[in-house]
Amino acid sequence: MTCGATVRTPQGSTTAGGARRTVCAVQRQCSRSGCAEPASVTLTYQYRVAVVWLDDLTGEREPHGYDLCARHSAKLSVPNGWRLEDRRPVGLRLAG
Ligand SMILES: [Zn+2]
Repeated sequence: MTCGATVRTPQGSTTAGGARRTVCAVQRQCSRSGCAEPASVTLTYQYRVAVVWLDDLTGEREPHGYDLCARHSAKLSVPNGWRLEDRRPVGLRLAG
């Protein structure tokens, strides 16, 4: 895998602006404001059933999800009456 590598448009290409794109879309940043850590967890929730899910970072950004770094996902707390379900593999789960 060449995660994080970028592809530059070859010189002489008709593509305007010397466009480049990221090959691997997985590398994303934590959604918490002020946090520059790379995201490792995707948080999704369903309001109707009051459940919050934590999953391994999804390949594509979830339209209704939040990407969190390990630190922020570890100290995540859910509102009163909500249930937190950590669906990540047990081996990677942090205590608590
Ligand atoms: Zn964070």
